[in-house]
Amino acid sequence: MDMNDNKRRRSMLLYILIAIVAYLVISQALGSGLTAQRVQEVGYSQFVDMVEKNEVTAAQTTVGSSEITFTTGEGDSQQVYTTVQWPGAEEQTSQLLEEHDVDTTASIQDTSGDLWLMMLISYGLPILLFLGIGWWLNRRMKKAMGDDGPSMNFGGGGFGMGGGLGKSNAKEIKGEDTGVTFKDVAGQDEAKESLEEIVSFLKNPEKYNEIGARCPRGALLVGPPGTGKTLLAKAVAGEAGVTFFQIAGSAFVEMFVGRGAAKVRDLFKQANEKAPCIIFIDEIDAVGKRRDANLSSNDEREQTLNQLLSEMDGFDNHKGIVVLAATNRPETLDQALLRPGRFDRRIPVELPDLTGREAILKIHANDVKMEPGIDLGIVARSTPGASGADLANIINEAALRAVRFGRRRVTQEDLLESVDVVIAGEKKKSTVLSQHEKEVVAYHETGHAIVAATQKGSAPVSKITIVPRTSGALGFTMQVEEDEHFLTTRQEAKDKIAVLCGGRAAEELIFGEMTTGASNDIEKATQLARSMVTQYGMSDRFGMVQLGQPASRYLGGGAQLTCSEGTAQEIDAEVQALVEEGHQAALKTLRENRFKLHEIAHYLQKKETITGEEFMNILTRDDGFAPKMPTPPAE
Ligand code: ADP
Ligand code: MG
Ligand code: ZN
Repeated sequence: MDMNDNKRRRSMLLYILIAIVAYLVISQALGSGLTAQRVQEVGYSQFVDMVEKNEVTAAQTTVGSSEITFTTGEGDSQQVYTTVQWPGAEEQTSQLLEEHDVDTTASIQDTSGDLWLMMLISYGLPILLFLGIGWWLNRRMKKAMGDDGPSMNFGGGGFGMGGGLGKSNAKEIKGEDTGVTFKDVAGQDEAKESLEEIVSFLKNPEKYNEIGARCPRGALLVGPPGTGKTLLAKAVAGEAGVTFFQIAGSAFVEMFVGRGAAKVRDLFKQANEKAPCIIFIDEIDAVGKRRDANLSSNDEREQTLNQLLSEMDGFDNHKGIVVLAATNRPETLDQALLRPGRFDRRIPVELPDLTGREAILKIHANDVKMEPGIDLGIVARSTPGASGADLANIINEAALRAVRFGRRRVTQEDLLESVDVVIAGEKKKSTVLSQHEKEVVAYHETGHAIVAATQKGSAPVSKITIVPRTSGALGFTMQVEEDEHFLTTRQEAKDKIAVLCGGRAAEELIFGEMTTGASNDIEKATQLARSMVTQYGMSDRFGMVQLGQPASRYLGGGAQLTCSEGTAQEIDAEVQALVEEGHQAALKTLRENRFKLHEIAHYLQKKETITGEEFMNILTRDDGFAPKMPTPPAE
């Protein structure tokens, strides 16, 4: 308080000073301009001269003053002069003026009210004006700085530049206004449960203080992109009805050193005023990357991180401030951030499972008008690995499609079509395949489908299409799992590779040539085989040894080998062998079912898109060529 009063007085003084100086400068400028134009100062002798030459038309003086104001000429050519009369020459002057018929007036000086009024108007008004402006400026600066006292100071010099510039961009949204609660987040029950405690703490921090329990200061939401981390953070604020400060990690890291740290400081200061509240730092890996002794380390980022660490240690948790952060690259975070008392609680936000996907679809389906009797379950089943954001997108795509076709409600067909759009891209009408190319694609896709269908326990084929997509795919075969499973056996992985090889195998078998159409299949098959060898310990050669480390758990992007060069060569050989095994298996299956392959491929070429049912009908029709189908797994 004392400090504040002092500061205030000092700044008051400063304003007055500034006001006076400014007034003087301005009045000087104005005044000199005016006098130069209108009133000219002349010597007494010159005055006498002018009177004698009969140039002076009128003169005026004040009793007791020796200043004489006089004019020459009339109308437009009138000129005003002043002069100071020689001491004791009053009588002479008046005689002279009388002799030359000059119009003379004398006035008595009023030393009372008028003068004061004049003074007040001429000095007081500007001062008041400047004080007002100063006060207003000060208030604006204070606001901009998050009330850091007056922003002008003596000694330090300058107008407190740092304050205004380092202001954080944290958007202040009142929790209730975000309108998001746990109800809007589906399929993240474990995450919600972990966050429940934080909600209850924010609702009444006193209860925790009484017992002496310390609530976590920070929690880290980790998971792949689009799984609802941001949404969850907002929902916590919404549930607790507290203020929600959101800032992206990248917003801290700016070009000028020191500003990031200032922003962190300011953010926590604002939060302290609004407590209980939530500070949400999105994509924290932008600031929180592990510090290392690298030459290329980013000075600014480190300063910001250090400031963040010290703020997290320093803030008063009794008031109810919780810092939430989100990232999809937790492995890159600085260990210091994860220490107890900082982001010590880690909340995984994983990709939704089957029931989770259906629940998410349901939430977003509420926002659009749907035909009655829509089955969201089939959509959920055909989208394994989709994130919440993908699912929201599927519903939206379906609604857009309904509008495009002039419908008022979304149909099941819209939904299924939009799954294809999200998985494979929009249908591409402009791609015109030649008859031969179309034939190749039909055999390729049928090859995948037949290999898949004749395997035991692999997902049933639900759709085959040879309509080109904007993603570049010339067709695709969709398999939909009946229900989800979380483990993949070695045999299943091998089967999957065989299915992926089925396309190319069909091309070779029928046309005796290879096309570029298999490139995506080859990529996927090789990746799976490599993971089997380096991560899943499924190769005979190496057994249960980890030979690679995923570069990023949530972002994919392959694995980094953690083995010697010699071993790397052997891995390559092992991977090649696995893929080749699948390739041979696919060739064998297709050779055995050559007639069905022809029949289905021709049918597909005619229809362009066929359902899984149509496909199975032809494949299992007992005409002497039907494959021996695997018995479905016992319940
Ligand atoms: P993240 O921050 O994890 O990348 P977001 O929270 O930004 O993901 O999610 C993006 C959008 O996806 C959300 O606005 C929401 O519409 C949808 N979404 C994601 N996950 C869920 C979920 N679990 N429940 C409902 N909607 C979700
Ligand atoms: Mg996000
Ligand atoms: Zn293929």
